Amino acid sequence: MKLKYILKLFTILFILSILSNKSKGQANYLKITNYKVYYGWATHYPQDWMIIRQFENEGKNYFLLVNPQTLETRIDEPSFYKVKPMALTEVRDFFKNSPYIKAIKKAERHSVNTQDAGIENGMPKQTGISLTADLCPSHRPLDKRIFTSIVQEFEQVEKPVPLALSVSGVWMKQHPDDLEWLKKMQADHQINITWINHSYNHRVSPTLPLKKNFLLLPGTDINFEVLETEKAMLKNGLLPSVFFRFPGLVSDQQLVFKITDFGLIPVGSDAWLAKGQKPQAGSIVLIHGNGNEPVGVNDFIKLIHSKTKAIAKKEWLLYDLRESVDKEFENKSDSTNR
Ligand SMILES: [Zn+2]
Repeated sequence: MKLKYILKLFTILFILSILSNKSKGQANYLKITNYKVYYGWATHYPQDWMIIRQFENEGKNYFLLVNPQTLETRIDEPSFYKVKPMALTEVRDFFKNSPYIKAIKKAERHSVNTQDAGIENGMPKQTGISLTADLCPSHRPLDKRIFTSIVQEFEQVEKPVPLALSVSGVWMKQHPDDLEWLKKMQADHQINITWINHSYNHRVSPTLPLKKNFLLLPGTDINFEVLETEKAMLKNGLLPSVFFRFPGLVSDQQLVFKITDFGLIPVGSDAWLAKGQKPQAGSIVLIHGNGNEPVGVNDFIKLIHSKTKAIAKKEWLLYDLRESVDKEFENKSDSTNR
């Protein structure tokens, strides 16, 4: 009799552990093949999704999908949806009234600048900012002060604390332990990370002018830079978002359109703290999390400490980048959900 109960208890515990692992987030896709750009419409009533990638892992098919209303992404199996493959122009037209496609179009309109093309601020009505921290290749360890300070400062008002991390492929390779630390912070519901693609190699020349530097360096393979980073994210159990940050914030018009052709939204910054730019309400703040720019991190910590009272009254918050961009483009008069 006792044994029966113990067995039952074990079964329940086993099921619970599977469920909690599932809810902890992203699986690791360790054997990805045929990773490719693929566009289409996927629907599972009542939600429409835009398909942006297709791949196989251990013989199973998967899509990377975007919710065009909320800019949230997910990996899922095609069999769960009714699917219609479409050309990029067709699917962009289909979802043209959605915040996602509107944000892509805005980024394309702001594509001429050499630095800071794309979306560079969220809703000006927000009192607070969206925090983005870049993880460019670096031999220094992750600047953990960023995370411990926001968790501490926002403990009573926002949990998990939202922030976006722009991650390069090389950084993921260099810093497996730091990556595990971040994933644990996320699994413990301390922080909620939006993962931004920051290119794979993040090449930079110390001598060339900006117009020929970073991803504009001769010999750059943009397909590799975008898709290999996504594959590395999936391998490491990170969920790619629809955002892309140019290394050095440097691009030209042609490059912006190449990125939007991947279904990605270039995200700039109107407040690169280490460069002395002051954040405004709704700013997309840029600091470096890779240990290379401690000045910017100091300024950020000073900034949030100066807001302690407003934070406690929920008058100054950190915003989820997806929500900030989404809210800016939400048009209440649109009757369709596309
Ligand atoms: Zn960078």
